[in-house]
Amino acid sequence: MSSAACIFCKIIKGDIPSLKLFESDKVFAFLDIQPLSLGHALVIPKFHGAKLTDIPDEHLTEVLPVAKKIAKAIGAEDFNVLQNNGRIAHQVVDHVHFHMIPKPNEKEGLT
Ligand code: AMP
Ligand code: ZN
Repeated sequence: MSSAACIFCKIIKGDIPSLKLFESDKVFAFLDIQPLSLGHALVIPKFHGAKLTDIPDEHLTEVLPVAKKIAKAIGAEDFNVLQNNGRIAHQVVDHVHFHMIPKPNEKEGLT
């Protein structure tokens, strides 16, 4: 299921460019366009839904393993995985997405 008006569905289809990190039949991952740190990635189910409660379980099972794979692949030792639902919770894009935000060591000079 996808939504013609959804920016992340357009990214999955390739209608909007992205820096793709991973793709399978159910999951897509790409770099955030306004990264909070180097390597800030978004991992999304291909199934369109605004909130976590809109996504069937079978479309979510691979999402955290992919976030884990990306964190390991880029050598992020400390990182946050965040997922916002609804405006009050600071959600801006209405297609479920998990942020994987590396927290580099301050000594490395990256924020
Ligand atoms: P949220 O506040 O959880 O809805 O976060 C939405 C995230 O999507 C933000 O971190 C944006 O920088 C990111 N974003 C919006 N448009 C794009 C895009 N075209 N490509 C990559 N990331 C995007
Ligand atoms: Zn969508």
